[in-house]
This record gives sequence, C-alpha cells and structure tokens, in this order.
Amino acid sequence: MTTATVSRLPGDVAFWDEFLAAVRPRLGETTKFTREEPLAAKTTIRIGGAARLYAEPGSVRDFQTLMVAAAAAGIPVFPLGRGSNLVVPDEGVAGLVLALAHEAWAGFEPRPDGLLWVGAGLRLKNLCGLAAKVGLTGFEFLEGIPGNVGGALRMNAGAMGGWMFDVVEEVRFISLDGTVRTASRAELHVDYRHCAELQTAIALGALLRPVAPTDTESVARQIDVYKKKRQESQPRDPSAGCIFKNPPGNSAGRLIDQSGLKGERVGDAEVSLIHANFIVNRGSATSADLIALVRKIRKRVDDAHGVELEPEVLLYGKEWRDVL
Ligand SMILES: Cc1cc2nc3c(=O)[nH]c(=O)nc-3n(C[C@H](O)[C@H](O)[C@H](O)COP(=O)(O)OP(=O)(O)OC[C@H]3O[C@@H](n4cnc5c(N)ncnc54)[C@H](O)[C@@H]3O)c2cc1C
Repeated sequence: MTTATVSRLPGDVAFWDEFLAAVRPRLGETTKFTREEPLAAKTTIRIGGAARLYAEPGSVRDFQTLMVAAAAAGIPVFPLGRGSNLVVPDEGVAGLVLALAHEAWAGFEPRPDGLLWVGAGLRLKNLCGLAAKVGLTGFEFLEGIPGNVGGALRMNAGAMGGWMFDVVEEVRFISLDGTVRTASRAELHVDYRHCAELQTAIALGALLRPVAPTDTESVARQIDVYKKKRQESQPRDPSAGCIFKNPPGNSAGRLIDQSGLKGERVGDAEVSLIHANFIVNRGSATSADLIALVRKIRKRVDDAHGVELEPEVLLYGKEWRDVL
C-alpha cells in the first residue's frame, strides 16, 4: 500500500494504523515513529492526550518522507519542541507530531567566521551553557526559557529585554512539501511572539551572531543574575509560561492581578499566586479546566479594564478562537 491509497477517514483507527504501516518501512532505523504517543509528559504543564501519529525524525530525508506522505494523505503536521508553550487538548492531536528530539538536531558549532550554528533541537539552556564555556556572549537572556532553539524561533522568544531574532542571521527550515531552504533574517517576517514563515515550515537550525567574544566568567555571572531574577518571580509548579500576551503598553499579569484573580481555580488549573500571568497545574488539571479558567480570566479582565487579553500559549492542533 502507498500513502496515496490510505482510504479511510481520519476518525477511523485504521486510517492512522495504515499510514504508519505504509510509511514506517521507508524511514531510517533511528527514527522513532509511533501511534497514540502520550504528549502530556512532553510538555511543561503536563496536560493533554496523545498524538494519533508521532515521530522523532533522525535525518532530513526522514523529515521529507514523513511530511510529503502526510501532505498526500491530508494529515496535518505539528512540530514539537520542548512543549513549554503548549497546551495539548484532552482528546489529543489528530495529526502527525514531529518532534526535534533526535540528537541529530542538537548541534552547537562555533564557526571560524565568529558565527555560531545551532540545531533547532538544541535546548536553550544548553545553548547558553555551551556558549558561556567558549566565551561567546549575547545569548544569556535565553537562560531559563525552557524551550529549544526551534520553539524559540517560532515564538520569537524573548526575555530580559532581548529577543531570539536579535541574534539570528539565518534560519534553515523545511516546508510542508519537503523543500529545505535557508532564509536570512531580513527575508523572514518576525513579530511579537511570532515568525510567519515558521507558522507552517519547521526550523531545522539557525546561524546566530554572538555579540563579541568575552571572558567565560562574566558570561556565567550574567546568566546567574537572570537565573536569580526568574527564581524570584516565576512559579515552580508545572506551567506553560505566560498564558496571555502583554497588551500594547500594558502588562497582562498586572491586569489579571488587579482583577483579583490570583489563586482563582478551575479544577486543578490555578492562577499562580506568584505571577498572575501563569496558570499552574496543581496536580491533575485537564485542558478543559485550563480553557475554562482562561475564559474566566478574559471576562473578568475585560469587565474590569475593558481589555481583551489574547492567549500567548498555543492550543496544540487547534485555534483558541474555536474554544473561547
Ligand atoms: C517557566 C516558563 C518560563 C517561560 N519564560 C519565557 C520567557 O521568558 N520568554 C518567552 O518568550 N517564553 C517563555 N516561556 C515560553 C516558552 O518556553 C517559549 O515560547 C519557548 O520558545 C517555546 O519553545 P519550545 O521548544 O518549548 O516550543 P513548543 O512549546 O514545543 O512549541 C511552541 C510552538 O512552536 C512550534 N515549534 C516547535 N518547534 C518548532 C520548529 N523547529 N519549527 C517550527 N515551529 C516549531 C510548535 O509547533 C508550537 O506551535 C516560558 C515557559 C515556561 C514554562
């Protein structure tokens, strides 16, 4: 059977089984490819169901095979980094989740021209640590963001006054049709928590520009300062980071706090007492709990301040507007 002959409907268990059986033989041995892979433990907030199809491609070729086959069968594809900006719906994800968890995507290669090549699967924590070790500065602001490079590119992650795309020279990515290309920073459309091209394409790696070589001790000192700031201002319980985007010229956390919502709960989903723009999972929160709490927060903030908060966290495989 070829993927083109996967003829059942996506609601049908056999549809997904047949896709896996048809594509598996065409993949390399180190590529993991499974059905009904639980996703909650692959996210920082630990909520949600399973992926109908899940893969950790070990090569560009396997990425291409999976993406082209999925497109031919009408299966949507969802990249997964470290799941630190996602809420997985309780019913799971009806598509193919492609995680950059294989070591092939965790590269860290300082180049003779002073630039730094990193794989999209490299954890930001490791990027900071490795850069500090070789005396490359400019990435310290990323310390403490619990994602990987690919997730940080897609979200244009930012902290302590710095943004991911401040340090990007080029991004290498694979499009839904399997084409691999490299785009310079100037060619990419980047915004607050958003990179338009990576809305559909999957980042494989990026070329970064360090600020200037410096001594390893001062980089390590700066990282410690940022680490301490985070420890004092963010909850330790499982979360997905800031739930809402900051409205222009305002702070979502302050608006939520001023609306008396700290500690507000639906099931085990709770507005953090430490930082009002975080929802924490106090044990066995479901995505239904979290969505209900998001609705409650939006209504109360709108009633009190006339501001409509927009979620920053992504509802994996769905659109917030369909559930709010
Ligand atoms: C405690 C905590 C603190 C946080 N602090 C910050 C902060 O200070 N600043 C900040 O900006 N964020 C913060 N976040 C949010 C989050 O860590 C960032 O958005 C991070 O960049 C997401 O990376 P990820 O690898 O976890 O992506 P994921 O959550 O796995 O994915 C996020 C989105 O990116 C897509 N994606 C993932 N990988 C790729 C890829 N290779 N190519 C294309 N798309 C991809 C996914 O499909 C999804 O749409 C925080 C989160 C937590 C839990």
